[in-house]
Amino acid sequence: MRACFIRATGGLEQIQLGDVPLPGDPGPRDVRVAIRAAALNHLDLFVMKGLPLKHEFPHVLGADGAGVVEAVGRDVTAVKPGDRVMINPGISDYSCEYCRAGEHSLCVNYRMLGEHLPGTIAERVVVPEQNVAIMPPLDPPLTWAEAAAFSLVTLTAWRMVVTRARVQPGETVLVWGIGGGVSLTALRIAKLRGARVIVTSSSDAKLQQAQRLGADVALNHRTRKVAEEVRALTHKRGADVVIENVGEATWEQSLRALGRGGRLVSCGATSGPKVSVDLRRLFWYHWSILGSTMGNAAEYREIVRVLGGGELRPIVDGVYPLAAARAAFERLERGEQLGKVVIEVSRDGASRSAS
Ligand SMILES: [Zn+2]
Repeated sequence: MRACFIRATGGLEQIQLGDVPLPGDPGPRDVRVAIRAAALNHLDLFVMKGLPLKHEFPHVLGADGAGVVEAVGRDVTAVKPGDRVMINPGISDYSCEYCRAGEHSLCVNYRMLGEHLPGTIAERVVVPEQNVAIMPPLDPPLTWAEAAAFSLVTLTAWRMVVTRARVQPGETVLVWGIGGGVSLTALRIAKLRGARVIVTSSSDAKLQQAQRLGADVALNHRTRKVAEEVRALTHKRGADVVIENVGEATWEQSLRALGRGGRLVSCGATSGPKVSVDLRRLFWYHWSILGSTMGNAAEYREIVRVLGGGELRPIVDGVYPLAAARAAFERLERGEQLGKVVIEVSRDGASRSAS
């Protein structure tokens, strides 16, 4: 089958297109999906550059995807062949103590498509039935690109804003780097929760678009001192919640912006992972510093339900044909996008069914 893969870690020059073996038949509770579209995430760039993981090469890239169910295992009840589905890329074992407690993204065997497992930029992928959701009917209907763009960032942002930070109506939320998919979705979820949202970017064009999407205040973090601005905008109280995925470059400002009783939620460290905390400020201000990654099955069902209600429809930056996959990765690496960069894997989902 056609796929986008790497044979070694490195830069974008490692990206190859070609044929890889088809995945095996689905297990009793697995589903094989003929992928129509796959969406890129920063995770794909980290995988390409080399995470401390052992890959089997060729390693197929891509975490997010959507397509048509092609075959199901004998015990599958959630979907049937022909169903149009979105894929939750976080694969749990559904059996460890955390899974049994409903906390699938704490699974001791948690694996991501395209990171620990073959990815979605391929004509076929096999996943557990728990990891697919039927695309809700919307008007106008969800495109394949939108469906592919939904799962990873929406699940991540939902858990951060709703489950971890418990954002309340009227609270002030600071979201860094509004071009990224998680940040953009966190803005929209925080607005759904009734919060006042301050966003930052180094791009004035992205800040203007963020304001059209509901941001109350947009700050250019290249020209403005974000923490000072947040303090001024909140009568010196500071933000109730900071949504962090940048790490070293923003951490100090994030803490300076955080008010009494504030919650800082981190799901990433794109600029570096090592930060420091003055414990005196931590305990004196009753701060909560919260980690978060992906989300559990109940949260996934909830975001699909919210999508079905017409909210959180994914924002697609652009769609690239599979043959132009490298150009799609280049756009992501340059940080030019606002919304998701999507690769169209197959138009009919049945091209070259065997090889
Ligand atoms: Zn588990």
